[in-house]
Amino acid sequence: SSSSNLIRATLFPGDGIGPEIAESVKQIFTAADVPIEWEEHFVGTEVDPRTQSFVTWESLESVRRNKVGLKGPMATPIGKGHRSLNLTLRKELNLYANVRPCYSLPGYKTRYDDVNLVTIRENTEGEYSGLEHQVVRGVVESLKIITRQASLRVAEYAFYYAKTHGRGRVSAVHKANIMQKTDGLFLKCCREVAEKYPEIKYEEVVIDNCCMMLVKNPTLFDVLVMPNLYGDIISDLCAGLIGGLGLTPSLNIGEGGIALAEAVHGSAPDIAGKNLANPTALLLSAVSMLHHLDLTDKADMIQDAVLKTIAEGKYRTGDLGGSATTTEFTKAIIGHL
Ligand code: NAD
Repeated sequence: SSSSNLIRATLFPGDGIGPEIAESVKQIFTAADVPIEWEEHFVGTEVDPRTQSFVTWESLESVRRNKVGLKGPMATPIGKGHRSLNLTLRKELNLYANVRPCYSLPGYKTRYDDVNLVTIRENTEGEYSGLEHQVVRGVVESLKIITRQASLRVAEYAFYYAKTHGRGRVSAVHKANIMQKTDGLFLKCCREVAEKYPEIKYEEVVIDNCCMMLVKNPTLFDVLVMPNLYGDIISDLCAGLIGGLGLTPSLNIGEGGIALAEAVHGSAPDIAGKNLANPTALLLSAVSMLHHLDLTDKADMIQDAVLKTIAEGKYRTGDLGGSATTTEFTKAIIGHL
């Protein structure tokens, strides 16, 4: 096909195992004939004054232009005078919602084998506003900010996601019985959006009860939407239900329809460069990206091949108890396409 039919997407291979698992994604996308052309960007070797971080201005422009990208793990260099890489991306691209589909991988035994839910975390405010100070000696204060604008924005995305992904229910997670004003406003916004989606069931769950229900029976949930801190905790709890951060995909949604998919794990310096990394989380993140682009057939095809390879158990990487290399695992997936 001519390159004009290709969708351009930004790719940040990242650090440590990043380039190895990104290579696996690229090979599988080529084998599956996915109509995507990657625009690769690497983290710079010095601070870019325009971003005040090692993330280059050109790479941000690339994501803004393409509106879609995939990001490997980035190791933030230690030292003063620069912003963290992930924080830079989140702020500069206004990534307001973090979406984590969480489903059991058949054949990979965990406590549950029928988890199938999605957490949607508000990603810009709440307790993460960075407004902390000392009032007087021995007394400090941290401001939790909840705005109508950010709450409506993430609620809108949650219902839109449910509708476009064939999901029937959205649960808002909160502690409005105690945080009456902040979580109260968050809920009010969710209710307003829910009214526009009568076909989707809406419910509210108090966070402590939600944790107990998730651990006892995760099948009780479908799509969960929540403020920042609750989302941070609940999304990792849910990742634990299906086997850990090494398997969990995520997608960040930004202003203007930007979608940046990323693996939630780090750069794994202990196994970097040894052909031992498991590319599953980055691959399933790439699958989320394909769903976002409405390339459903390609998304399903790749997801099926990944799940079959893991279920078959012949080629698994070390973190899943196997002895396959990244390349062997990748080849096995390509064989299942
Ligand atoms: P880590 O996730 O890199 O590693 C934790 C453990 O999990 C290690 O034993 C590692 O080998 C293993 N592991 C992680 N991903 C794996 C994979 N795909 N396949 C097989 N094994 C895997 O966490 P860490 O050691 O705390 O962090 C290392 C670096 O990564 C730090 O510089 C940190 O800042 C960075 N980090 C980046 C991100 C991100 O870019 N989103 C997230 C977390 C950590």
